[in-house]
Amino acid sequence: MAEAQDQNAELLSLYQEIILDHGKSPRNTGVVENHTCQSDGRNPMCGDRVSVTTSVTDAGVIGDIKFDGKGCAISIASASMMTDAVAGLTAEEAETMFAAVRRICTEEVDPTDVQGELGEKLGPRLERLAALSGVRQFPVRVKCATLPWHTLMACLAGKATATSERARAPSAGTKV
Ligand code: ZN
Repeated sequence: MAEAQDQNAELLSLYQEIILDHGKSPRNTGVVENHTCQSDGRNPMCGDRVSVTTSVTDAGVIGDIKFDGKGCAISIASASMMTDAVAGLTAEEAETMFAAVRRICTEEVDPTDVQGELGEKLGPRLERLAALSGVRQFPVRVKCATLPWHTLMACLAGKATATSERARAPSAGTKV
C-alpha cells in the first residue's frame, strides 16, 4: 500500500514537472502564417486566454498549429502539449483526442487504459498528454486544461471564439 502511494506521488511529481516545463517553455507559440482557421478562447473562471491558429490541408489534416496565450501554467502547458499532439490528425481524430483528454482530466481512469482504447495512431499521442490527468485533483483547474482544446474545436468548426463556459444556461452544469 505504502509502495503504491510512493509510486503515485512519484508519478504526480513527474506530471508536475512536465506541466511546469511546458508552462515555462511553451512549444509552438505564435501565429501560423496563412492559417485556415483562427479562434480565441477564454476561461473567465481563471482569466486564461488562448488563441489558436492552424492550417488545415485540402485532405482535412491539421498542418501547422500554433497558439498565443496568457494565463496560468496549466492553460499554457495544455495548449503547448495540444499543439504537439494534434498536428497531422484529422479534425475527427482531434475530437477523439479531446474526448480522451477530458476523460483523463475528470474521471478516475488510468491514462494507460485510455491509450489502449485509442489504438496505434492516437494512443501514443495521448501518452504525451497523460500529465494533464494531474488536474483531476484540482477540479477548478480542469477548465484551464480543456480551454485550448475547446478553442481548437471551435477553430476547426470555423468559429472565431470559444469559452470554457456554456453560452446559455450557465447554471445547467459545468462544461469541462
Ligand atoms: Zn487557468
